[in-house]
Amino acid sequence: MLAKNNRGESWLEALKFIGHCPICDQHYEKNRAKLFAKHDAANLVHITCGKCASNFIAMIVMVGQGLSSVGMVTDLSFDDAKELYKTAPLTVDEIINGSQFFQKNY
Ligand SMILES: [Zn+2]
Repeated sequence: MLAKNNRGESWLEALKFIGHCPICDQHYEKNRAKLFAKHDAANLVHITCGKCASNFIAMIVMVGQGLSSVGMVTDLSFDDAKELYKTAPLTVDEIINGSQFFQKNY
């Protein structure tokens, strides 16, 4: 169980559960994980593998006394993730325009 006085950094404790790089199975080191966004109980964390240099983004949510996490492999660097997080989501019109562009040109 996580100590209450450590709650601000408790997302770091969640790394124990994420544990290993999904690409090369290298154990993640805590110092390679960086927080790039936080909203209420949700923490968005970027990790670069020390062995294969692949990038991983995880959302770690504190729920009561526990935590939940979901993650994905990405080609985004920490700086890319930090910037793209701030951008507006795609609209339906933009997605349709993009689809039509590819249908016409490829
Ligand atoms: Zn790796």
